Amino acid sequence: MSLDASLLSHCHAIVHRIAPELRGVHIVPDSVFEGLAMPPDCRGFAIESEHLTFDISERLPEHTSTSPVIVLCPNAIREDSSDDAFRDGVMSVLLHEAAHLLPRPVAAGRISPPDFSYLDCAAVRARLDERRAKAIALPEPSPDAEDAVHGWRFLRRVCHLWSRARLAGWDVPTAGLLGNSFWYCSQEAHWVMSLFSELVRLRNATFCEIESTEPPKEFMSMWQHALSTFYRFRGTQT
Ligand SMILES: [Zn+2]
Repeated sequence: MSLDASLLSHCHAIVHRIAPELRGVHIVPDSVFEGLAMPPDCRGFAIESEHLTFDISERLPEHTSTSPVIVLCPNAIREDSSDDAFRDGVMSVLLHEAAHLLPRPVAAGRISPPDFSYLDCAAVRARLDERRAKAIALPEPSPDAEDAVHGWRFLRRVCHLWSRARLAGWDVPTAGLLGNSFWYCSQEAHWVMSLFSELVRLRNATFCEIESTEPPKEFMSMWQHALSTFYRFRGTQT
């Protein structure tokens, strides 16, 4: 199985169904950005609208779009999974990256895309490339930092996305949802179970509404436990 047009359109259908806030999101294979500096060794990544530099957006199907992008890396996904499990791998990376792009206001007005055509020159491209390479090399904030990329808020979002995909009839596995950054966490299914009541109750809520409510105590106590594992391990590494 490959990341062909049919699988990509399936990915779009799922994301639009389970997170309408992401309508318009681009979902593309990493080959679209061949030659640009991109995060190495990963199964996928997300690019927020404000990071859509000219050299990225010009490679998208609608190059004037200001929608965010989910990039899937089929070769890395295939390395991590058998051929039969390739589709499952794509689904888990898809939900993981979608969670990085949430929450976002539903009624956010679209900003007119700026006209970058006059900037289309080698010097600008080189500078953008250098800036992105530096951003990629920055260490990820600790999981309990306010700006954590893979903190408990992300974990909660990805569980909601998984649950909605299941409620909508898609057979999406929990394995791989958290990605490698959550090595210190319990199994994915445990997080889903700790959020079970709100996964059902808030299934029609926007992600902004979800984040305005307190998560279940069980979920937060699992998170505190996971964090202590993280710090215990990190302590032995220094
Ligand atoms: Zn991630």
